[in-house]
Amino acid sequence: MKGYHSPQVDVRVRLNTNESPDAPPEGFSAALAERLARIDWNRYPSRSAEGLRAGIAALHGTAGENVFAANGSNEVLQTLLLAYAGSGRRVGLFTPTYALHGHIARVVGSEVATAPRGADFRVGAGAAARFAAAEEPDVLFLCSPNNPTGTVEDPETLLAALEAVAGYGGLVVTDEAYIQFTGRQPGSFSAVDLLAEDAPLVVCRTFSKAWALAAVRLGYALAPARIVDELHKVVLPYHLDVMTQEIGLLCLQDAAAADRRAAGIVAERERLAERLAKLPVQQWPSGANFILFRPTGRDGAAVWGELVDRSVLVRDCSSWEGLSGCLRVTVGTPEENSLFLEALADVLH
Ligand code: PMP
Repeated sequence: MKGYHSPQVDVRVRLNTNESPDAPPEGFSAALAERLARIDWNRYPSRSAEGLRAGIAALHGTAGENVFAANGSNEVLQTLLLAYAGSGRRVGLFTPTYALHGHIARVVGSEVATAPRGADFRVGAGAAARFAAAEEPDVLFLCSPNNPTGTVEDPETLLAALEAVAGYGGLVVTDEAYIQFTGRQPGSFSAVDLLAEDAPLVVCRTFSKAWALAAVRLGYALAPARIVDELHKVVLPYHLDVMTQEIGLLCLQDAAAADRRAAGIVAERERLAERLAKLPVQQWPSGANFILFRPTGRDGAAVWGELVDRSVLVRDCSSWEGLSGCLRVTVGTPEENSLFLEALADVLH
């Protein structure tokens, strides 16, 4: 097997891993130091992370028993697949999508079934239902906004997937790592709205993007309590260390900060999209903190290299299945975005 890699090159403008360009608010480190000064370092952390899970639950108007917290949403995905996939089971994906879904599925021994997304990179209700009925995956992933395409699915797609998997006892896992960047109004759609104790649905979220905490490794799943119980059987005891739990609790004190940060990123994304529209590139509408684009009439990998020469790093997706010639740029600070646009214009003209 090949591993999962994202090359880290030493450049001035790093727009390749969909991180937040801004750090957590001022005072964060001092407040954290205060919290850490009170820790009993000789003791194991709370095994069930009850406080943190209750805090996350409050954010979503649900109960702590419906929250599973882990070291990044990657560990959430791994735990889900250890519990519900593996040898003799099938995992379904709509490609291109986040590589770790298929990677972890294979690592734990599952068969992986894929269906290609449409030309606009959306799945759609009909295709979701047909794929689920034909392949009957034990775990069906829906990533929305999807990485690396930025595509947002309609609620109908999720409803169709849910109905189809309910027919044979499967599970839908929606990965909403980028949901805060859809620019949605309060109260508009997220898969969280469809969570119910009898629904075969799990929603994955992360603190790595809008929360600006990629360094920490904190993510979570919202799910029926019976599923959260299964995940706790599978995950290692004390997997979530005391510092991660404390940082999560501290951040939850100002949850609005993540939404404010996301709004700034969305505005910059729209500026990037407008400027990209004036360059010889094809781009796809994004609901995330990145934009997928394809230089027209130029080789994508060559453009990537020439951007690196100008000290700008984006993600080279040009060799990924279904993405020939494509590059993905993370929305950075206004200055970083301007430097990227200048460098790209220079390369393409
Ligand atoms: N899901 C998606 C769709 C992602 O793009 C990423 C990170 N690139 C993750 C999950 C993992 O995020 P983390 O482990 O940092 O929470």
